[in-house]
Amino acid sequence: MKFNREKEVEHLIERELKPDGITDERVLQALYRVKRERFIPQSLKDRAYGNYPLPIGENQTISQPYIVALMTQALDIKPSDKVLEIGTGSGYQAAILAELSSVVYSIERIESLSAYARTNLYSQGYNNVFLIVGDGSVGLPEYAPFDKIIVTAAAPRVPDPLFSQLKKGGKMAIPVGGRSVQDLQLIEKALNGRVYKSSLCGCRFVPLIGGEGWKD
Ligand code: SAH
Repeated sequence: MKFNREKEVEHLIERELKPDGITDERVLQALYRVKRERFIPQSLKDRAYGNYPLPIGENQTISQPYIVALMTQALDIKPSDKVLEIGTGSGYQAAILAELSSVVYSIERIESLSAYARTNLYSQGYNNVFLIVGDGSVGLPEYAPFDKIIVTAAAPRVPDPLFSQLKKGGKMAIPVGGRSVQDLQLIEKALNGRVYKSSLCGCRFVPLIGGEGWKD
C-alpha cells in the first residue's frame, strides 16, 4: 500500500498521543507538521508514524513520538525560548523544538550523525537550529544560559554544568538512571533559586557518553 502521510500522522495523534495525555495544541501541531519520514532511513518510511523508536545508524535511535511529545510538552516551550538539546541524532526532536522556539542549539558527539541531521534539517528550512559536534554532557557555556534544556540520552545523574547553564525560571527534561532503564525527569529552576523535580515516566534511552555521562 502507498504511504499516506496524513492518515498515518492523524492516527498517531488521535489514537496514541491524545489518549496518553498529550493535550498541548502547539505540541500536537508541531508533531503534525514535522515530517518524521524525512529523519529516518528511507527503507523504514512506511513506519515513520508508528509510536516506537527506529534505528538511525551508529547504534542510535530516533526517539518514540510519544516521548518526543511528552518532553516537549513538559518543557512548555515559548516562542522566545533559547533551547539546548543534547543528542541531536536524526535532528527530529530539534525540528519539533525549532517549530516552537526562537533558537535551538543541538550537540551530538558522533560527527556522521550530526552531518545526517544537518542535511535533514537544512533541506527542510530549519534555519534556527545550530548544530555542534562534541560532548554535550558539559553543555555549551559560550551560549548559556538557556531557557530550556532537553537531554535525549540517558544520564547517570543530572550533569552539574547543564544545571548551571539553565536560566532561573527555566526547565530541563532528562532521563536519569541506569544504562538501560531510566526515569524521565523534569527539573525546574524556580526564580527564587529553588529546584523542583518531578518524574514524567519510565523510559529507555541510549546512554549519554562523556565527561558527565557514561564511559564509552
Ligand atoms: N534527539 C534524537 C535522538 C537522540 S538518540 C532524535 O530526535 O533523533 C541519542 C543521541 O545522543 C545519539 O545520537 C548519541 O550519539 C548522542 N549522544 C550520546 N552522548 C552524547 C554526548 N555526551 N553529547 C552529545 N551527544 C551524545
